[in-house]
Amino acid sequence: MTESRISRRSLFAAAAALGLAPPALAQPARVWPNGARAAVSLTYDDALNSQLDNAVPELDRLGLKATFFLTEDNAHWRLADWEALARDGHEVANHTVTHPCALSGYSAERFEHSEIDRMEGYLDDHFGADRARTFAYPCGYLGIGRGGRHERFARYRRVLQRDSVVAARTTAGGPNRPAEVVADPLYLHGFEPTFEGDGVGPAIRYLHETVAKGGWAILVFHDVLPKWHADGDASVATHNKILAQITALDLWCAPMGQVFDYVESRPRWSCIPPPSPCRISASPWSRRRSSDPPRSPSGWSPGRQRRITP
Ligand SMILES: [Zn+2]
Repeated sequence: MTESRISRRSLFAAAAALGLAPPALAQPARVWPNGARAAVSLTYDDALNSQLDNAVPELDRLGLKATFFLTEDNAHWRLADWEALARDGHEVANHTVTHPCALSGYSAERFEHSEIDRMEGYLDDHFGADRARTFAYPCGYLGIGRGGRHERFARYRRVLQRDSVVAARTTAGGPNRPAEVVADPLYLHGFEPTFEGDGVGPAIRYLHETVAKGGWAILVFHDVLPKWHADGDASVATHNKILAQITALDLWCAPMGQVFDYVESRPRWSCIPPPSPCRISASPWSRRRSSDPPRSPSGWSPGRQRRITP
């Protein structure tokens, strides 16, 4: 029997009979801080009260730092709490002023002035002007104005190509590969684990795929409520189980901007694991494309956003 015909099972059996450790399987290189197998960022959109009340206590208990994509419309109701959260080491980032989902009626100039410049000014005033920030596309919608999909997204990219925006997160796609992150920082994949129901299964599968690929998971949350209410929400129980899973896996958990800085600062990323080609492969996480129309009522709409009360 030639070596090439020896099955993996027979190798395991032989190793066990000899009292040896099983042969090592191919693993992605450990390129993340502290030798972690993969990275994960927890992101919370829309400056919702339930995040302050129900998600942050569990993050703090576990010592995890997250990214909060704020809109001015919502953040101002509890601005002191968001400021305290930022002082505690969480990242606050730009999710526009009013969270517009339908952008076909906007010019790039109007969107840039009314939603991006103004929100950056708000964040500078209340959270410090000494840093570039990450951005999350409201509703995961990737186009401004009219025209074809690529034309509209190119218009959006031009608005975001500024020193104050380092990276932008969508709401679709699988685990991020570092080489792709460096190549296209305005198209980071995000995954909303409770988009289709209040279960931990999708999050666990996504995290395990990320570990297997040695990549970067970006989880997206909206409301975190005592009881699940609608698609996109997470119950406190499910949210906390997902966080527990993160602490149980060999992951580096850090805010989006911090992970991006780490990726960008590395001199050279190869695709992980080699020799996989550097391309976006089809995966179950790609079912929902960022270019889908605004989701309602399961997704985001200005009406839902404004249900917050002071
Ligand atoms: Zn949003």
